[in-house]
Amino acid sequence: MLHFITGPMFAGKSKYLIKTINCYMHEDNSLKVLFIYPEKTYRGYFCRDKDTIFDSRVDIMTEGEFRDENNKNSSFIENIILNYDIITIDEFCFLEDSGFFLDLLNKYSKENDFIVATLDRDFKRVVWDSVAYILDSELMDAHTELSGRCECGKRGLYSKRTVYNTSQVVIGDSIYKCECKDCYENDNTYTV
Ligand SMILES: [Zn+2]
Repeated sequence: MLHFITGPMFAGKSKYLIKTINCYMHEDNSLKVLFIYPEKTYRGYFCRDKDTIFDSRVDIMTEGEFRDENNKNSSFIENIILNYDIITIDEFCFLEDSGFFLDLLNKYSKENDFIVATLDRDFKRVVWDSVAYILDSELMDAHTELSGRCECGKRGLYSKRTVYNTSQVVIGDSIYKCECKDCYENDNTYTV
């Protein structure tokens, strides 16, 4: 099954993912979990809330390590599927080769458990292609949509970029705000 976790920046997606993993591991001591993340988004921590830590039994790999191992060993993915009860992927929209992981989900998520967390939309509120693929597919069995908190107090649904840069991918916590629909639409300073 595929549990999909989506939301804007500062909605607590990684925190929710890690807590979900820990919850499953707390219930089952023999559970084996693999956590995969794209190296380009790593800022020295997996979760802004430093009180949220992994169970020490979770194995962690970057996207690059995962794909390198797969290139070296033709039975790598079969072994991963056999060895791990749950495979999790964080920051899905930032994967270099999302097609590779969409193939993985297409092939194995009916029989194996996957939990995938991601931003839903970019700073222009456009749904990321890889996210749209999952939302429109029949892959998803459960969907947790998280929201943050706008400065005005309303639910924050969108990731507002606070500097001028038109690239879709610009990593950095300090140049984004989580905003509600009204605040996002009333301040078009950097929404190009
Ligand atoms: Zn607001």
